[in-house]
Amino acid sequence: MTRTFSGLDPARVAANVADVRSRIAAAAGRANRDPDAIELLAAVKYVPVEELGTLREAGLELFGENRAQELETKAEAHPDARWHFIGQLQSRKVRQLVPRVELIHSVASDSALKELGRHGTPETEVLVEVDVAGEASKAGITPEALGEFIARCPVRVTGLMAMPPATSAPGASRPHFARVRELAEEHGLARLSMGTSQDFEIAVEEGATIVRIGSVLFQGAG
Ligand SMILES: *Cc1c(COP(=O)(O)O)cnc(C)c1O
Repeated sequence: MTRTFSGLDPARVAANVADVRSRIAAAAGRANRDPDAIELLAAVKYVPVEELGTLREAGLELFGENRAQELETKAEAHPDARWHFIGQLQSRKVRQLVPRVELIHSVASDSALKELGRHGTPETEVLVEVDVAGEASKAGITPEALGEFIARCPVRVTGLMAMPPATSAPGASRPHFARVRELAEEHGLARLSMGTSQDFEIAVEEGATIVRIGSVLFQGAG
């Protein structure tokens, strides 16, 4: 169901970016947080590599991609941008990803741990994806299994990532985000990757340090 955004209008994207940044700042203000402590990651799975220049002109510089192959292509075209991996980690792809990304958001399987043990370096940094909503169909480590999973991770774990259920009511994500923050505190982790177009303001209020935003950055008629 992935929609592709192409023919992006630079002025439109710049206006969207400004709007998102001001909404992040307002949400940070409501929570007495420093807005500079929150990174805006542009989720670019919807955007073809040819259009990335438009996003960079709009001032975006941190990009997240879900597929290893796409990440490789896009990071090769824009090696001076910052790249994070936000998709489901397939063990076969870990080796090629590691040198290209600053952070892997979505470590959630034993096979990923095994590959990280093989291909990780002292610089490799990851987040563990948690499933706080108890969605059996979703990737993510349960809160109960988290401590043990982190202990077994062969590279540096600096935070948690979460992807709450899709909802039309952003407030529905709040208890999930609050739980993720609690878990991060329990495990002494500083980084929290949570919040998408549907609920990023709530995520910021609840402590997100990285919000992963796609569609609202790209929408609107050119
Ligand atoms: C696509 C994606 C996002 C961004 O979602 P939008 O609803 O387009 O803002 C964030 N995180 C992950 C893991 C994604 O795959």
